Amino acid sequence: MRIGRDHRVPQAKCPLCGHKLDAAAGIDTDASPDPDDYSVCINCASPLIYCADLTLRPLTAPEMAAMHPQNRREVEAAMATARRLDRRKR
Ligand SMILES: [Zn+2]
Repeated sequence: MRIGRDHRVPQAKCPLCGHKLDAAAGIDTDASPDPDDYSVCINCASPLIYCADLTLRPLTAPEMAAMHPQNRREVEAAMATARRLDRRKR
């Protein structure tokens, strides 16, 4: 898994923990995020999805279940990475 280039995105708050999110980096891609792309909060490791205006909303359990297996693996790997980063802060 390779983390791609950082991109500025419209500032939004994580809908679950309120952390300010204004940058994104892809997994195995340098592309900037598009609506309906998956994301993970760097602060609380929650799975999120980009809305049309590039703000974020929580990913629902049915959406998580319906995800392509490759996407689910990438989101779960990003969640694990965010949890490891969170532990390092303490
Ligand atoms: Zn969060």
